[in-house]
Amino acid sequence: MIFSLTSRFLLVIGVFITGIVLALSGYFLIGTLLHLLLVGFLLAGTLNPSSRLFGPVETSCADGIWLTLDDGPDPVDTLAILDLLDQHQAKATFFVIGEKAAKQPELIREIHRRGHQIGNHSWSHPRATFWCLGPIRTYREISKCQDVIAAIIGEAPTVFRAPVGHYNFFVHPVLRQLKLRLVGWNSRGFDGVDASHADVTARIRKSAREGSIILAHEATPIAREVVADILRLAQENAWSCNIPAGTTTQAG
Ligand SMILES: [Zn+2]
Repeated sequence: MIFSLTSRFLLVIGVFITGIVLALSGYFLIGTLLHLLLVGFLLAGTLNPSSRLFGPVETSCADGIWLTLDDGPDPVDTLAILDLLDQHQAKATFFVIGEKAAKQPELIREIHRRGHQIGNHSWSHPRATFWCLGPIRTYREISKCQDVIAAIIGEAPTVFRAPVGHYNFFVHPVLRQLKLRLVGWNSRGFDGVDASHADVTARIRKSAREGSIILAHEATPIAREVVADILRLAQENAWSCNIPAGTTTQAG
């Protein structure tokens, strides 16, 4: 789908108004069905973060594993995780929150200095509402994070991850304009909601394979242990842990 932000907004409003007109004109069931179809369509990106219904999303890498770390930077975890990555000669993508980056620019510079990738994870991480944001707020959330990172390290991110993976119908036109790729995952341990290190790493070990994009988080009580175990897993399987080359250049 190549609709612009305005086209997508007008499409949603048009279908919504058509449903009301049909319902008020004696076609109540058809109008209601149209609204239900609209809600179901708009929820697609929420119910399935890997859905390509609204546009492309990367859910695997060509070889090795792609370690992605969301929700930083963090004053406790970031430097410790950077040291772990150095020990394993591994590279990762840090999907950082713009507000946190603005408060801790030195951590963003250090991630960049050590050769890792910094991705856009929205300005304020509206975890409960990102899926239903309108076009203007969606643009602001993504562009403001993009601007603050560019101001700190001198280059804008090339990859974006939606808060909680819940992207919405208006995200892809914004990503196209800002030359960003949407990155999902195909392996996770639910470390954002489960504080059991054993359970989290067991889930990752069960789902990870060559070509996996692994999702983990900073700013959790078990962040460092989880990263350490992912790196051990890569070592045990002789998987490289690098940033895919195609994601380091601006999207076309
Ligand atoms: Zn997040």
